[in-house]
Amino acid sequence: MNRLAEELAARIAGRVLPNEPLKEHTTWRIGGPADLLVEPASREDLKMILRFVREKGLPFTVIGNGSNLLVSDTGIRGVVVKIGERMGAISVAGRSITAGAGAKLGRVAAVAQEAGLGGLEFTVGIPATIGGAVTMNAGANGSMIGDLVETVTVVDYAGQEKVFNRAELAFGYRYSRLQQLKAIVVEVVLGLTPDDPEAIRRRSQEYLQKRRRTQPLEYPSAGSVFKNPPGDAAGRLIELAGAKGLRIGDAMVSEKHANFIVNLGAAKASDVLLLIERVRGMVRAKFGITLELEVKILGDSGAG
Ligand SMILES: Cc1cc2nc3c(=O)[nH]c(=O)nc-3n(C[C@H](O)[C@H](O)[C@H](O)COP(=O)(O)OP(=O)(O)OC[C@H]3O[C@@H](n4cnc5c(N)ncnc54)[C@H](O)[C@@H]3O)c2cc1C
Repeated sequence: MNRLAEELAARIAGRVLPNEPLKEHTTWRIGGPADLLVEPASREDLKMILRFVREKGLPFTVIGNGSNLLVSDTGIRGVVVKIGERMGAISVAGRSITAGAGAKLGRVAAVAQEAGLGGLEFTVGIPATIGGAVTMNAGANGSMIGDLVETVTVVDYAGQEKVFNRAELAFGYRYSRLQQLKAIVVEVVLGLTPDDPEAIRRRSQEYLQKRRRTQPLEYPSAGSVFKNPPGDAAGRLIELAGAKGLRIGDAMVSEKHANFIVNLGAAKASDVLLLIERVRGMVRAKFGITLELEVKILGDSGAG
């Protein structure tokens, strides 16, 4: 892999890190090594990386800020592309804000607030890139990012750029067609609403305080582990099933928010997977409902 790393590094401006521990790139602080972690500095870099993996026949995975990922303890084979801040330029024109996919959501919201553009307040505290947020259709407090999307530009695995509008992306609850396309989000244009920056700031603060009250932000996590079943809340079902505080190794169902599994220090992916199955079993036994995962499992864990 080191030879491949050198070969790829010579072709792009971005970083190439062989045998890179992915726990350094996930908010759960869990995950074994990527054979090659690559951080492109531009679309041209990205296209070059795609050509490289095609030439060499390497497996290929894309991540953003790793805030919705459970990466297996044995890591991920082949090339993992991290779309980060080097592909995160932000600009404002009228009511629209254009952000490179690697821009952190918090930074996009801050630029919008400064420009007197409201609508992103609900995203405060979601530790995502804008590319990951549109892919997952991140949402909170009854709002979701998909509703703000004007267009999304992707580079497909063949290296072609394509632009999609909101309707084409079929946004739903924690879903967008981007999850099915073999493509990487490189740019997002959002349509926002002119508003007083002070009013935007106040609303953002209220959302943030609510998060701090209700979520265990003092521990590494990936936010909600399970999707809410229609008309109900996964956290409520988990709590009533008696799973709050359940612990395997250093992975624990949070006492503060039952849909969070927190890493108390040295949790392994295998601990989290066992805990997920235990919680699912308890909820199924009590309510006859099988909870679906919101987090994405990457690497060769064999679980789903
Ligand atoms: C403390 C905390 C609070 C959270 N609160 C919320 C919340 O309120 N609402 C909510 O919806 N989520 C929440 N989350 C979960 C998470 O932040 C979101 O799912 C977020 O959208 C993931 O973005 P990311 O950049 O971290 O993507 P990652 O976790 O890195 O990736 C998620 C998925 O998107 C894909 N992906 C990422 N970037 C790209 C790209 N550029 N192109 C193509 N595919 C890509 C990946 O392959 C993967 O399948 C929370 C997480 C934490 C840790």
